[in-house]
Amino acid sequence: MLNVILFGPPGAGKGTQSQNIIKKYELVHFSTGDILRAEIAAQTNLGIIAKLYMDKGELVPDEVAIGMIKAKILANRNAKGLIFDGFPRTVTQAKELDKMLESEKIPVSIMIALDVEHNELVTRLNGRAFESDRVDDKDIKIIENRLEIYRKTTFPVIDFYKNQGKFKLIDGIGTIDTIFSRICAEIDKVI
Ligand code: AMP
Repeated sequence: MLNVILFGPPGAGKGTQSQNIIKKYELVHFSTGDILRAEIAAQTNLGIIAKLYMDKGELVPDEVAIGMIKAKILANRNAKGLIFDGFPRTVTQAKELDKMLESEKIPVSIMIALDVEHNELVTRLNGRAFESDRVDDKDIKIIENRLEIYRKTTFPVIDFYKNQGKFKLIDGIGTIDTIFSRICAEIDKVI
């Protein structure tokens, strides 16, 4: 099974590149952000709780994110592979994901991190505000909060996968096709 973690700060292009990767490698897509937004739209209990965090640009509690992913992994045990987009976002989540995948004997194949510098991220997220209906894209303070949480809490996840020799840094600046080719070159090495 090909299990890919697509990693990077908000605005790095994880959602866009995930779509390309899913098509080419026929993977099942797990975007915790998309799952949470669907829960909010459906006004479930989980969605009502998640909205309190998401609207402020905070992370939802680890147990919420981990619980959601656990159920999805078990339901897709026989897929060709999985792509994790926006998960794990904390070292605790990374450790739990490892435990789940190891116990199912389907370990992470590669962690691909998209590298985009701060000012470019702010420009992209501000631009996205016009086309998205996401509350967390609409306010520069919330955008800055999300980027700060990425730097403090999410960035250390890189070391977790570096220590396993699974971390690959990809230049996230360029056309969508150029970046996709860089990603494929790395994935093709682990197939
Ligand atoms: P995204 O669509 O990946 O940018 O995620 C949007 C928001 O959903 C984040 O700002 C968090 O509030 C929440 N979220 C998504 N994934 C996670 C996660 N793995 N852990 C905690 N919160 C998450």
